[in-house]
Amino acid sequence: MMQTRLVVAFIGMFIGMMEACPAQKPLRSGPPQAAAPPGGNTAAADKAPAGGYTIAANKAPRGQNTTAADKAPAGENTAMADRVNKTEAQWRAELTPEQYHVLREKGTEPAFSGALWNEHRRGRYLCAGCGQELFRSSDKFDSGTGWPSFTRPAAAAALSTLLDTSHGMVRTEVVCSRCGGHLGHVFPDGPPPTGLRYCINSVSLRFEPQ
Ligand SMILES: [Zn+2]
Repeated sequence: MMQTRLVVAFIGMFIGMMEACPAQKPLRSGPPQAAAPPGGNTAAADKAPAGGYTIAANKAPRGQNTTAADKAPAGENTAMADRVNKTEAQWRAELTPEQYHVLREKGTEPAFSGALWNEHRRGRYLCAGCGQELFRSSDKFDSGTGWPSFTRPAAAAALSTLLDTSHGMVRTEVVCSRCGGHLGHVFPDGPPPTGLRYCINSVSLRFEPQ
């Protein structure tokens, strides 16, 4: 009788262990959901051709902290926290017509027409829409294109990139991560150390000499 009870007890423990396993399954299904947001940028761009303002609005419901953490795991999210969301009427009132056309309507200034393509002083380049630091003079180079060109942003979190299929081309659009303002495009034909060329409109920038 004792042996029978022991066997029953062991079977009971075994069943108990088996039942514990299914409890882990919900945990395993977690990571794929968490991995989804990084691809959301491009998807948002495809769904919202109306402009960066709409994209920023789409991200807002997720919560500022969560979004900032997703995009900047390094912890460089201080600037991201105070995202700038303004109505098009507010932007139109604050910006010059040229700034509004480029920043909010994704326009492009004519080559060699801007104030900063030939700027060689030391300093910082801030977003003309919201003032976030975007580029530094140490990363600026003379591309010969007639637009200010940089090999990298001042901080990775300062920029967001979107797929741009307008004008029969496939390009990577660069926008300010804080206000969604259109800055220009990034191309893979830049000089070392990154091999990237951030081709930016002068009118999207405000230069602050140092
Ligand atoms: Zn901005």
